[in-house]
Amino acid sequence: MAAKRDYYEVLGVNKNATPDELKKAYRKLALQYHPDRNPGDKEAEEKFKEAAEAYDVLSNPDKKARYDQYGHAGVDGAYGQGGMDMNDIFSQFGSIFGDLFGGGFRTGFTGFGGGGAARRVLRGTNLRIKVKLTLEEIDRGCEKKIKVSKYVPCKTCNGTGSKDGKLETCPHCHGAGVVTETKRTMLGMMQTQSACPHCGGEGKVVKDKCHDCHGDGIVKSDEIITINIPAGVQDGMQLAMQGQGNAAPRGGIAGDLIVLVEELDHDVFERQDANLYYNAFITFSEAAQGATVEIPTLSGKVKIKIDAGTPSGRVVRLRGKGLPVLNGYGRGDLLVCLNVWVPKSLTKEEKKMLDELNGHPNFQPNPTKQERGFFDKMKEMFN
Ligand SMILES: [Zn+2]
Ligand SMILES: [Zn+2]
Repeated sequence: MAAKRDYYEVLGVNKNATPDELKKAYRKLALQYHPDRNPGDKEAEEKFKEAAEAYDVLSNPDKKARYDQYGHAGVDGAYGQGGMDMNDIFSQFGSIFGDLFGGGFRTGFTGFGGGGAARRVLRGTNLRIKVKLTLEEIDRGCEKKIKVSKYVPCKTCNGTGSKDGKLETCPHCHGAGVVTETKRTMLGMMQTQSACPHCGGEGKVVKDKCHDCHGDGIVKSDEIITINIPAGVQDGMQLAMQGQGNAAPRGGIAGDLIVLVEELDHDVFERQDANLYYNAFITFSEAAQGATVEIPTLSGKVKIKIDAGTPSGRVVRLRGKGLPVLNGYGRGDLLVCLNVWVPKSLTKEEKKMLDELNGHPNFQPNPTKQERGFFDKMKEMFN
């Protein structure tokens, strides 16, 4: 599969395009590549889907923000390999192009090269599950095996819903899946089409229903699904696995499995995007005289040098020791805050020693200008 084109490029708009400009750009492409105007043209179909996907992302502030930040990786999960589903595209049309497409184009899935009958293809519902991930799992990416209860094709009837595996052409609509009514209205004769009530739009009916699935062709089953979690995902992200949701009745298109990422709190690290934060304690002696201390990272401990005279609260940046960036370019940093540890209780001897430090000749009760500037530096680092 060729690399995905940039969504802005697909629609031919710039990053600051208004919702109106987006809609206009999409409308133009949708008209140009609409399958009804390009019957059997695979390339037009791809272009049509590509434009729909680009519009779906860029017209949604949430998805757009994720796309702007992470590129395709930020939203890819929702579309997968095959791009957007035709049913979804057409169902969008009503709200986007109510004025333009109204009635002129079919709004149902027609199936390309399928002879033109507007038969409905049944679609399985999407399934949503949550996976809980540790920062370690997010750091490396992982494989999760999850048990889900979902509809699968019935084995007894091979998913047909029929005892003998055979379907009959619907006697009501003669296989068309739709019924057409002609009505006289104030504007003249009007033709309306609706799904056939007898076969629900499928164009076929089951004569001898399968006992196990009662003619649906699907049954509930507990399945173990393997999910590949890419490194760098974040809490709240959704990954869509196409065709892994509920099977559709009688051989239709299976729904998607939507995996919602939930990030578990970590014992020692806090996360912000790809950066990690760690609060370290050092002794007064280490802060004053300098030392080498061990700091944990997600991939084992590292040693860092502390300069003599390090003030409590100094932040040290360990480049590349954060989490991988989702789209694969580099890693975030680990920001270590060095706190001078203060004992809660002291022995007599310790008190005596500390009392001596109170008389330190260089003690300054007020921070220097440089030390005050530290807060600005810290804010800068944390943003
Ligand atoms: Zn069955
Ligand atoms: Zn029918």
